[in-house]
Amino acid sequence: MDCQIADIIIIGGGLLGTSAAYHLARRHAGRIMLFERMDIASQTSSRAACLLTRARTKKVLMDIVQETYDTIGRIEDELGESLDLQQTGSITIASSDSSLHTVETLEKAALDYGIPVERIDTESVKRYLPWIEQVAVREAIYMPTDAFIDSAQLCNGYAKAARLRGVTIRPRTAVKEVLVSENSVKGVLLDSGEKIYAPVVVDAAGAWSNLLSFPLGIGLPMTPVRSHFWITESNPELFPSHQPFAVLPDAKAFTRPDVGGLIIGLREPECVSYAPDTLTASIEHMDFTPDNGWAILSACADGFAAYFPQIRHTGIAHYVAGPSCYVPDAMFVIGPVQQLKGFYALTGCCGAGVAAGGGMGRLIAEQILGEETFVDATPFSPSRFGEINPFDSDFQNSCALARSHKKSG
Ligand SMILES: Cc1cc2nc3c(=O)[nH]c(=O)nc-3n(C[C@H](O)[C@H](O)[C@H](O)COP(=O)(O)OP(=O)(O)OC[C@H]3O[C@@H](n4cnc5c(N)ncnc54)[C@H](O)[C@@H]3O)c2cc1C
Repeated sequence: MDCQIADIIIIGGGLLGTSAAYHLARRHAGRIMLFERMDIASQTSSRAACLLTRARTKKVLMDIVQETYDTIGRIEDELGESLDLQQTGSITIASSDSSLHTVETLEKAALDYGIPVERIDTESVKRYLPWIEQVAVREAIYMPTDAFIDSAQLCNGYAKAARLRGVTIRPRTAVKEVLVSENSVKGVLLDSGEKIYAPVVVDAAGAWSNLLSFPLGIGLPMTPVRSHFWITESNPELFPSHQPFAVLPDAKAFTRPDVGGLIIGLREPECVSYAPDTLTASIEHMDFTPDNGWAILSACADGFAAYFPQIRHTGIAHYVAGPSCYVPDAMFVIGPVQQLKGFYALTGCCGAGVAAGGGMGRLIAEQILGEETFVDATPFSPSRFGEINPFDSDFQNSCALARSHKKSG
């Protein structure tokens, strides 16, 4: 059987794996091979709502998102093509005391960081978002530099730029297991029986990451949690395509324009988690919600109807669901795994891999190469929870709670 040698192997061709490949190649990290068992950008990374929300409550997260914006600009220059970033801006709306606090916290975080932000009155909100019920708006902030981007196009952009810098990308190639010798990684065994040897292996297998690490005795602290959104039928007058995306913390909802329709994301009070071994290899074959999300939509619609009463009479054209990997503390999982030399985790996107993927890829590249990291990596350490069992239902519930409590975009 064939055997090859690489310096770094990356498992997973989603936003996180391809971003890591690009950042490593940019740093001349040697022979880099990326294996993706389906097609590049075909799994969770093709199902995102695609928001690149800049303002976060933690500065380290804003640094990481800023790096994604910078990476997008750099890749566009390198490829000589646009990745079609849509800078529509965002509007976050407070309707209650508690969401007013959320909005004020985000406003302060944005101001401190230097992100343009302004308070806007209800008339202006209505001008930007023609569908909104003005009386529901108590306070609103507008952030003109927020944007969204087609997540599959972004992922393919990372992959293309990585390939241009010499990364070998092998789609339709599944990794069967990570090879280990004593306490170090040795490489990977492919489904085909081929062995590839490398001293560094990055587990960026998204919702499936634990299926590769757990047989090595390593539980990564994250669980796939169902995320979803609905897309209305087209109504370009109500939903013009240049309108800002909106974040509605009181309804645990967000919206963004989508070619004449409106994407509506709603977070149910109790989000659903999945044991990693219950996921099919391709999410195309996963039945996330048997009734296409209708029961959830009608259960959550009351909160959203305060902003858009016509929701009950508006046609829904599509329902999109997928697994996002949540972590109990809502921070990512990035870095070396202490128990196994050369094994790195890049997962636990907490529903933010589009916004944060560019920065997450840079951080892991710097860690692998022993460079000074552009942000403090400690909050993302894979071992920060001690030993965990990702198949334990209490642990899975604690991850689902991180999504249930999320109020941001
Ligand atoms: C409905 C929804 C809405 C979202 N909205 C947003 C948003 O608005 N903004 C935002 O920032 N984020 C959003 N996200 C999150 C974002 O999509 C994810 O953070 C991102 O796609 C995660 O990328 P990934 O590379 O970790 O996972 P994936 O894209 O799933 O990539 C992992 C890859 O690993 C491969 N793989 C697995 N096992 C193996 C193996 N053994 N061998 C080889 N390959 C393997 C898989 O085939 C897969 O392609 C959303 C997610 C969902 C589901």
